[in-house]
Amino acid sequence: MYCKIPGCDQKGSRYGRLCNSHKSRQRRHGHPLQKGVTKQELKPYIELVRKRFQANPDSNAMAETEKRWFDLIRQCQSVVVSYYQGHPSQRNRREASQELIKIAEEVSTVDVIETVLAMYLLADSDPRRFRSDEAFLYQVVRRVRALTEVNVGRWYDYKTQRNKRVYRDLTPKTTQQMGTMLISTLGVAGLCMARLEQATSASSKAAEADYYETLASLH
Ligand SMILES: [Zn+2]
Repeated sequence: MYCKIPGCDQKGSRYGRLCNSHKSRQRRHGHPLQKGVTKQELKPYIELVRKRFQANPDSNAMAETEKRWFDLIRQCQSVVVSYYQGHPSQRNRREASQELIKIAEEVSTVDVIETVLAMYLLADSDPRRFRSDEAFLYQVVRRVRALTEVNVGRWYDYKTQRNKRVYRDLTPKTTQQMGTMLISTLGVAGLCMARLEQATSASSKAAEADYYETLASLH
């Protein structure tokens, strides 16, 4: 039995029918064909988010978004506290909460918000970049976790004589849980940003068209 991904000639596993490399991609990225979003790739979208907040210095939008994040972290803290008091807890929820608390301790709130909002702009400008909603969610988690060094282990590769960074993955279920928490907290702002960006690019296209008309009417 071959891997069920079209064009893949590797042997598939007996059950999932995915080869090892597609199976690990599924596990790490939420879809067997999803490619990880890089920091470089996200950078221009972070710039757009930043610019929009900077253009509106009197708005409460960032403060209120931060407040949503702080509320989430408080909820996470109570999940963890209750676990340490010996109450039964759902494992994925607890692990996701611990991870979010760690991020809140290590990373500035603005960085987290900009990263999540930028992911929405990327998804909106290139919808095919994400293979599924699940894959989007995984990428949100990955980019947010990448803001902290805590998740990165290092080892020395003697072959290349360089330090290698190894990204420690959460389990798929914890990733789903954490992604859902991030999205339910910051997704509204993300969708709104994407809509604003569409309007901006539509109006700049209209201005371009006007300019073209002006040029074309030269005689
Ligand atoms: Zn395969």
